[in-house]
Amino acid sequence: MKRLATALFCLASLAPLACSPGSSSNAEATAKSGAVPPSILLVTLDTTRADAVGYESKGPETPNLDALAARGLRFSQAYTTAPQTFPAHASMLTGLYPKDHGVRENGRTLQPEPPGREPLAELLAKGGYRTAAFVSGFPLAHGFGLASGFETYDDEFGAGKAERSAKATTDLALAYLQKNGPAADHPLFLWVHYYDPHDPYEPPEPFRSRYAKDPYLGEIAAMDHELGRLLADFETRSAATGWRAIMVGDHGEGRGEHGEAFHGHLLYQGTMRVPLVVAGSAGSAGLGPGTRDEPVSTRRVFDTIVAWAGLEAAGAEASLVSPKPEIVLGEAMMPFLDYGWQPQAMAIENRIKVIRSGVTEVYDLASDPHERTDLAGRAEPKREVRAALSDYLAKLPTSPTASDSSLSEEDRKRLASLGYVAGGDAPAALAPDAPNPKDRTELFRDLDLGSARFVREDYAGALAPLERVAAKDPNNASARLRLAVAWSILGKEGKAAEQFAAARRLRPDSLDLRAYEGLHLLRFGHEAQAAPLLASVLAADPGRLAVLEGLAAIREHEGNAPEAARLLEQVIGKKSAPGPELARLGLLRMATGDTPGALDAFERARSLEGDRFGHDLEMGVCYLSARRFVEARDALDRAIGRLPAGHPDLPMALFKRAEVAVLLHEPESAGHIRRAWERADATTRPLLERDTLFTRPNGS
Ligand SMILES: [Zn+2]
Repeated sequence: MKRLATALFCLASLAPLACSPGSSSNAEATAKSGAVPPSILLVTLDTTRADAVGYESKGPETPNLDALAARGLRFSQAYTTAPQTFPAHASMLTGLYPKDHGVRENGRTLQPEPPGREPLAELLAKGGYRTAAFVSGFPLAHGFGLASGFETYDDEFGAGKAERSAKATTDLALAYLQKNGPAADHPLFLWVHYYDPHDPYEPPEPFRSRYAKDPYLGEIAAMDHELGRLLADFETRSAATGWRAIMVGDHGEGRGEHGEAFHGHLLYQGTMRVPLVVAGSAGSAGLGPGTRDEPVSTRRVFDTIVAWAGLEAAGAEASLVSPKPEIVLGEAMMPFLDYGWQPQAMAIENRIKVIRSGVTEVYDLASDPHERTDLAGRAEPKREVRAALSDYLAKLPTSPTASDSSLSEEDRKRLASLGYVAGGDAPAALAPDAPNPKDRTELFRDLDLGSARFVREDYAGALAPLERVAAKDPNNASARLRLAVAWSILGKEGKAAEQFAAARRLRPDSLDLRAYEGLHLLRFGHEAQAAPLLASVLAADPGRLAVLEGLAAIREHEGNAPEAARLLEQVIGKKSAPGPELARLGLLRMATGDTPGALDAFERARSLEGDRFGHDLEMGVCYLSARRFVEARDALDRAIGRLPAGHPDLPMALFKRAEVAVLLHEPESAGHIRRAWERADATTRPLLERDTLFTRPNGS
């Protein structure tokens, strides 16, 4: 942080560059534009293979990316750090590999300060940049932790939607630029993320027709069209500050290679090698035109941008503009985390790629770019490479922290709608017989299918694929747990119990397992057994919605209204429209004699529920006991208005209404009392007879 403090001091004195005379990027920036560093555009291209762009292959048409590559510096061997959206982006924005920033799969949360590095946007914001991000897919929603430091972080996908098109995102980014574009003394850092090439592949016209045979490439062509609009506008508006730009893929797509259709399971080139182009305004030193063929990690995006901003001398050394040769690393941990399979890491040095996943594979990328011939046994990787891999794999992912696993059900569904199903807890340890993911490709389809149906709540449909997985991979805890839950929801208590037992043998400490098993026991009426399980889950992770709801219901049945109310309050805090829960809370608070609390809950429920709100009678009773007669009258009138003749609540509503009429000295009170008598039942008749209000002179 000392370096940062120096950099900030320098910026404050408007002479940021004089402080670090050794930095070539600083010298370059000075030459270009004096004291103000350039505006910076980072565009991340989701699910874009390196060979799916026009400057590398014949098929796709990406004229805008090609033009940028032609005048900039392009990297033929750029590698993502992980084949999943969030961990890959977290690396670009922190400069760290996933083992160091800590997020190993989508759906986990980046902790505020990864050890050793401040997030990029925070550094730039402190360094005088305006910062804005426009992201297009839910895996990057602000709740997962990438938004810190961004003045603007736009992740509005629309109600229930989990992604938006490159066109929609570009429109928003252009509107932002028009309003807040870079000024001569005020550079901008703009990050735009495009999600289109992620499956399902549904490009807009005219790309849909043009790429009818390969809609994945159609998505990339459509994205490039939008990229062109963004680049042109950014370039024009940044004339005063000068500009730099990075276009980079977050990861690729398997497209069937090595048995992988999508991404996330394996570490082969199709998903790990990505397009990477850096470019800048005229006169930017070191930015091409040209091609660099040494392997580089996309985590260097961080260092490159830091160097361009003149913020941290260390950034310049690791910048992509003058990369030092290094062993490039990467990982794919989702199969380990979710299925208990081998953890996987890769190392690339020069032209040799080594994958370690229980066994070691070695490929010569120069002569064998599709990794068809495993050279293991014939070519021994260098000692440094082996050491780097061992070091990387020494720190296996562990169970998520409490905050990680507290995704709301809605958020889980949005992630799942994109094909991501963040599993539960990590295995406590690597099983000695853990399968190698590359030998289990025949299960990928059933795993994807089972998970997708499960999260769509098609439990009957999820059974067959999950049973096939469990038959071939009996130690797959995720499949066992999903089977257990599916059987439970389908009403098969015995079958569910079998699978819960199997899952418990595999993951005895799993919080997810305890949560689901507790809810299962509750579902079949075993509340006494369910309560301690659910309570223990909440002790470790207080944020789980379904568990809070389950335990609240149990406490209510036990007659423990204060504890039920306390749990329900937490449920309400986690829901976007908790109308029914607020109404239940009102009833619980009534039961504990908390009239003001009950009224507050009822009023909030009523404002959310509108005409569906069905507790006007209880509300009227509360207002009456709070001696707020006008509100009591209104609530009771609403209750009477919606209660049909013969409804069991009607006599009480009429009785209470008569009381209020008398207390308010309404001219019509006699009529209200008469109606209360006419409809009186066994409960209200004695009340009417006893009630002193009705013996007053203006009564009957
Ligand atoms: Zn992605």
